[in-house]
Amino acid sequence: MSHQVTVQPSGHQYAAEAEETLLAAAIRQSVGLPYGCQDGACGSCKCKLLQGEIELGAHQLKALSEAERAQGLILACRARALTDVVIESHEVVGAGEFPVKKMPTRVSSIEHLAPDVVRVMLQLPAADPLRYRAGQYIQFLLPGGARRSYSMANAPAESPQIELHLRHMPGGKFTDHVFSAMKEKEIQRIEGPFGSFFLRDDPENKPMIFLASGTGFAPIKAMLEQMRTSADARQVTLYWGGRRLPDIYLPDWVERQCALMPNLRFIPVLSEADAGWPGRTGFVHQAVMADLPDLSGHAVYACGAPVMVEAAQRDFTTRCSLPEDAFFADAFTTEADKAGAKA
Ligand SMILES: Cc1cc2nc3c(=O)[nH]c(=O)nc-3n(C[C@H](O)[C@H](O)[C@H](O)COP(=O)(O)OP(=O)(O)OC[C@H]3O[C@@H](n4cnc5c(N)ncnc54)[C@H](O)[C@@H]3O)c2cc1C
Repeated sequence: MSHQVTVQPSGHQYAAEAEETLLAAAIRQSVGLPYGCQDGACGSCKCKLLQGEIELGAHQLKALSEAERAQGLILACRARALTDVVIESHEVVGAGEFPVKKMPTRVSSIEHLAPDVVRVMLQLPAADPLRYRAGQYIQFLLPGGARRSYSMANAPAESPQIELHLRHMPGGKFTDHVFSAMKEKEIQRIEGPFGSFFLRDDPENKPMIFLASGTGFAPIKAMLEQMRTSADARQVTLYWGGRRLPDIYLPDWVERQCALMPNLRFIPVLSEADAGWPGRTGFVHQAVMADLPDLSGHAVYACGAPVMVEAAQRDFTTRCSLPEDAFFADAFTTEADKAGAKA
């Protein structure tokens, strides 16, 4: 049995089957609700239930607090409709543009970019290329039904290959496999594209801050490639943070882009720098705040560790006047993040 979901203020309507979440049904029917992890951990799909009844599955309290729940807020990725429902949510132009597909891929190369980071190139079926927006992600479909998400690090192009940057998480189900056993020519099933983290058109051409921690650089790299090929001349400053120098694992690539894109500036920031590091130190989002105490005229695209993304969103909006709707992010949530306090 299905229920009707009406999204306000757009008035868009779609059907949600009893067993699927409001978000899964929206993705299936190309309705552009905003979302990130799809796992109740990041809060990007938070919206308001205006009418009807839902069942809300387990989620992180930091993604949806009890106070927010009491105000009628829900997570679309965790909500199943029990009746026809009306929700209030903004919609992301282009989020449902490309169909989500499952496909087999072949690992064409694995290259170490740092001791704990590899670049994995995946060969896609030639007859069935993956269409996506720079900044979106795919999921590996693992045996037993588990899934793991990784952002494309290259802009969509004619080449039927996608580039991924994977950081090893010791004890992690998938990255332990990648770092110990994955071989070239291995077949992996993926599904995608997912996510609403991609560049927005901006009639005001506001200057942009790209904020990355660790492999959060992957979707940012794809966005920079897209900006270069589409001659997008908006001013952009990339702050890329890591603990030590190897965490900024493609500095030469970024420097080459700076030479090609006069509108790009690059500021690497290390939180545990060796003595002798001549550059910026501290937490990467605090470097942005030191340089730009007033962010009211900027747009921010942030990606990487959830703790960095959460701190940036909170501090930029409360202390630097960044409008809430000018902050776009993907938090790289993991099983460890999901194991915390839940409702
Ligand atoms: C939208 C999105 C995009 C992403 N893109 C990227 C990307 O481009 N690059 C990238 O490197 N990562 C990315 N990630 C993170 C990635 O999806 C994986 O979460 C990460 O690689 C870890 O996967 P894993 O299977 O190796 O580890 P998991 O099995 O998920 O474990 C992660 C860590 O948690 C520990 N752990 C596992 N279960 C528990 C538990 N119950 N309690 C406490 N600790 C536990 C493990 O020991 C390990 O250290 C992204 C995540 C999201 C949501």
